[in-house]
Amino acid sequence: MTRPTELALGNVLAERLRQEQLVKSGVIRWTCAEPDVDDHPKLAVLGEEFGEVARNLCERLTRSHTALCLCSECVAGLHDLREELVQVAAVAVAWIEALDARP
Ligand SMILES: [Mg+2]
Repeated sequence: MTRPTELALGNVLAERLRQEQLVKSGVIRWTCAEPDVDDHPKLAVLGEEFGEVARNLCERLTRSHTALCLCSECVAGLHDLREELVQVAAVAVAWIEALDARP
């Protein structure tokens, strides 16, 4: 049985690999794992992903559903929240990789 931590980290790894594939396919020019990119644009990327987590929460707070609501709209919102959190973690991991690659 997969432990919750293993499941979450597996999702983060998959997202990291997806980010690198976006570079290879030319969709984006770099990821936060690129050691030659300055820290400031990386902070912007991480902030953008963090902002998407906040937007998800704000959108759900403005509805008249409770935090424990299991309607399809709320379940979809929780799925999206999880995806955004995985993206936040993957961007942080990429940035760590860049720091580790510095001499
Ligand atoms: Mg996102």
